Amino acid sequence: MKNYPIAKPYITKKEEKYVLNVLRSGILSIGPKIEEFEKKFSDKIGAKYACAVSSGTAGLHLAMIAAGIKKGDEVITSPFSFIASANCILYVGAKPVFADINPVTYNIDPVKIEKKITPKTRAILVTHIFGQACDMEAILKIAKKHKLKIIEDACESVNAEYKGKKVGTFGESAVFAFYPNKQITTGEGGIITTRSKKTQEICRSLRNQGRSENMQWLDHKRLGYNYRMDEMSAAVGIAQLEKLDFMITQRQKIAGWYNKYLLPHSNFIQIPLTAEHNIHTWFVYVITIKNKRVSRNKIIATLNKEGVSTKPYLPSIHLFDFYRKKYYYKKGDFPVSERVSESSLALPFYIGITEEDVKYISKKIINALRNYEKRIQK
Ligand SMILES: *Cc1c(COP(=O)(O)O)cnc(C)c1O
Repeated sequence: MKNYPIAKPYITKKEEKYVLNVLRSGILSIGPKIEEFEKKFSDKIGAKYACAVSSGTAGLHLAMIAAGIKKGDEVITSPFSFIASANCILYVGAKPVFADINPVTYNIDPVKIEKKITPKTRAILVTHIFGQACDMEAILKIAKKHKLKIIEDACESVNAEYKGKKVGTFGESAVFAFYPNKQITTGEGGIITTRSKKTQEICRSLRNQGRSENMQWLDHKRLGYNYRMDEMSAAVGIAQLEKLDFMITQRQKIAGWYNKYLLPHSNFIQIPLTAEHNIHTWFVYVITIKNKRVSRNKIIATLNKEGVSTKPYLPSIHLFDFYRKKYYYKKGDFPVSERVSESSLALPFYIGITEEDVKYISKKIINALRNYEKRIQK
């Protein structure tokens, strides 16, 4: 039986070669590769400045500090995201205020954002979910009207476009992540992009124990962290960037295969939809199960026995225990997000999976759903 994982990095000789060069150079941190990676990444997406860090989460933390978000502030964000995009608001002592999502794109709904604005609101932290951009025109308008900053969590959407402009260039700053399941990887790693030289300077200082660029090793200007990206990781990132266009094209092709084999079964499932003005770069391929009486978790278990890994994607953040306890969130607060969370399923999706594999996996999914529905009808 073949086994299909959900995600798998695409590593070739190029990464091996670049990492080996770094190892042989003897400069393993604070060297030329991190700067080269920053330059190449920001050029690629059309951002002015960048600051590479040790993870996407670290990047979000620094982006919040650099934006001046602090205790007593409120930041509006999506409950349908990976937990780090809400946690980073807590890291700086501010309050995450959720606004429900659009049922088609699963991205934060601009209309719902406006209803959550209070005198304490300082920023909107948007997550471009699964590889497609939020409705940035509407969100930028709201931000301008209410004088709010925009921070983009672009961790799942490298190279994605909204009306011809790449994500990571809309906000005050943006953050990308390179964990091995993302579209490109550095092992662990992340990067902040920004249009402000000042933000870049602050982030570079914060990632390096609060030192300024021209300071001595044991001189510290502000409270900082060790959020540096090492040179081996940066070298992997450079290799991955050189393959980025190819890798995204492959992902789009795989999504096309899933669409082809799953679309005829729209009585059982909803396939992912892409907004007209978006270019989707496919972090994951997520379907939702239409019949509310079908146990999604049982479907996951059935598929797992057949070698097909699937995962609920994603749980709604406001329903995690510590969010409930801290802010009294409850079921029903964000119904669209909750409905997607309860019925969604991420499918095996990585470069190297073939059309035959996708056809096979699709058949297994539909069979599992068909059998389950037959059983509950009895
Ligand atoms: C992956 C991810 C992150 C965090 O990235 P790490 O590198 O794992 O810290 C943040 N936000 C979103 C939406 C993500 O998908």
